[in-house]
Amino acid sequence: MNISFSKVQKQRLRELNAPADFQEKSFSSAQDRDEAFRNIEQLLVRQGKQHLLEVRNVRHRPALCELEAKLIDVLIGNGFFQVITPIILAKGLLAKMSITPEQPLFKQVFWVSDDKCLRPMLAPNLYYLLAEFTRLYDKPIRAFEVGPCFRKDSKGGHHLNEFTMLNLVELGSPEEGGRQRLEELAAIVMDAAEIKDYQLTSTCSEVYGETIDVIAGLEVGSGVIGPNALDSQWGWGDPWVGIGFGLERLVMVNKGYQNIQRVGRALMYFDGVRLNI
Ligand code: ATP
Ligand code: MG
Repeated sequence: MNISFSKVQKQRLRELNAPADFQEKSFSSAQDRDEAFRNIEQLLVRQGKQHLLEVRNVRHRPALCELEAKLIDVLIGNGFFQVITPIILAKGLLAKMSITPEQPLFKQVFWVSDDKCLRPMLAPNLYYLLAEFTRLYDKPIRAFEVGPCFRKDSKGGHHLNEFTMLNLVELGSPEEGGRQRLEELAAIVMDAAEIKDYQLTSTCSEVYGETIDVIAGLEVGSGVIGPNALDSQWGWGDPWVGIGFGLERLVMVNKGYQNIQRVGRALMYFDGVRLNI
């Protein structure tokens, strides 16, 4: 007989982050299966409680906050400066990014009023600021923002409605070396996130045309080499490179978690541990 875990058992195993191959195991009887389930559940609950104790007893911040702090340090060390921009975004700025009602991303936007939304990405604000900075600073201009973004994304193991984006941009990169610079910038972030195994792959994006995604089993970032069709709207034509990373996805990959809910802002989890244990 080939008996696999029940739906309820699978759900619980996922919550407790049981190894993926264990979740797919099959058994010769329901009794064997239930016993294996009980054993691993007990073990994972014990481990979760142990982690919660450690969190209380040692100086500790959630992994997502640790990574954010580390990335800020590393980027500043690499000549970038940090900006913080409004989370509430004007509809007009979205339109300027070509995110209009025909665009799939538009349907994922949370509106707070007729003409204001929660930002689904950091790029519109960064474009806006860079247009100002080009008047005020010599190039290259290296800026980054890290903070919350919101999308009505289909639920699943890789998407959250609210997540943390890091967007870094270098305006005035050498014209020829865009790809190389993008690789260098991706490496700075991936090193800080302690992820060694990743590739850059070209894909197509509705907003930017070509993007170069950073893939570490799943997409953790999307990069662009400019100039690009959008730039003229903002009044510049310099070469630039930029990448947007999802911090929860970086933590998820680094920790080997199967679902992103463990990492993000949550009431069900604390620092990766399911609380109903
Ligand atoms: P996907 O195709 O996986 O939905 P995307 O290409 O729409 O992602 P981008 O617009 O490229 O996402 O955003 C940059 C990065 O932000 C992504 O590479 C990902 O790491 C992260 N990200 C995007 N949407 C979400 C989300 N809903 N939850 C968590 N992280 C996200
Ligand atoms: Mg992408």
